[in-house]
Amino acid sequence: MKPSFVTAIAALLLIAAQHASIVAAGKGPRVIIVGAGMSGISAGKRLWDAGVRDLLILEATDRVGGRMHKHNFGGLNVEIGANWVEGLNGDKTNPIWPMVNSTLKLRNFYSDFDGVVANVYKESGGLYDEEFVQKRMDRADEVEELGGKFAAKLDPSGRDDISILAMQRLFNHQPNGPTTPVDMALDYYKYDYEFAEPPRVTSLQGTEPTATFADFGDDANFVADQRGFETIIYHIAGQYLRSDKSGNIIDPRVKLNKVVRQISYNDKGVVVTTEDNSAYSADYVMVSTSLGVLQSDLIQFKPQLPAWKIMAIYRFDMAVYTKIFLKFPKKFWPTCCW
Ligand SMILES: Cc1cc2nc3c(=O)[nH]c(=O)nc-3n(C[C@H](O)[C@H](O)[C@H](O)COP(=O)(O)OP(=O)(O)OC[C@H]3O[C@@H](n4cnc5c(N)ncnc54)[C@H](O)[C@@H]3O)c2cc1C
Repeated sequence: MKPSFVTAIAALLLIAAQHASIVAAGKGPRVIIVGAGMSGISAGKRLWDAGVRDLLILEATDRVGGRMHKHNFGGLNVEIGANWVEGLNGDKTNPIWPMVNSTLKLRNFYSDFDGVVANVYKESGGLYDEEFVQKRMDRADEVEELGGKFAAKLDPSGRDDISILAMQRLFNHQPNGPTTPVDMALDYYKYDYEFAEPPRVTSLQGTEPTATFADFGDDANFVADQRGFETIIYHIAGQYLRSDKSGNIIDPRVKLNKVVRQISYNDKGVVVTTEDNSAYSADYVMVSTSLGVLQSDLIQFKPQLPAWKIMAIYRFDMAVYTKIFLKFPKKFWPTCCW
């Protein structure tokens, strides 16, 4: 069983002023966090818990939440970003899970991906024979397992890493890529759907195993709550930032519509400049924007980041995950067990 998931790549950069004297006795450091998504808001909470009180969060858009974002479609709120709690029922508890299921009681469902083989539709209508699809799935699963064992033997540095497609070739599985509609659907389900990129460019070592599932278990629950997945972020934010009765963050330490364009740093501290030419100084800045932002020239670092950081930023590709929502006049797909 393998749940759908987008490679969640978030980079957290910390630029520290190497100057102890700026942290006056009895007064904590001033920290600016760039971005009010899950990582920025969580970083703020960790700092708050560690006693750091002088925080400022600068967010480019007009809302807190980042890629956790609901949107009204066809009369319902749907998730245009994160939708599943991934990594459940393993030895360790996914830290998101108690918040979702116990504290906030967000409506959620176990995603039974075992049903995939019984639900592969023909282009011309009707279903493919389940037994046939199961055989193809068994073969794809077998190759994935072989790939996992092979990946475990590779040098941990990633020096010998190969793509998923290369691994499939190695095990003589669809050496020219999937050619039949069923194999295409299964390959998409196993890889593209999960990693937002095709096997040709998906790293074997980076995905076999996928840390979330290895750490927290193979299962995933789909959150379908009209309050939205973003409620989790508001819940975390509400533990250290002021919010109104509806849960909106109204704390002056969060500044919305502030697009950070420049971060200057030296051994005395940092100055963060936004698009509207406001400048904020602090002892430290944490940058929680996506890799996509870090790989663009939106934020100028002065001086330029050290080579090892730039290399780390460019070791990944920013995948594009497009969700398409369709509203059907009636439910034609089988449902079970919910
Ligand atoms: C379509 C889609 C589906 C997904 N599905 C799942 C799922 O099912 N389960 C799951 O766990 N994860 C899923 N994810 C991944 C998950 O949404 C992200 O990993 C997570 O929300 C990232 O949080 P973040 O804080 O690191 O980044 P972001 O949410 O991107 O937050 C960064 C913030 O920084 C702000 N910012 C950017 N540039 C600047 C700037 N220059 N100045 C100031 N602010 C700036 C942005 O506006 C944003 O608010 C999905 C993602 C997408 C896109």
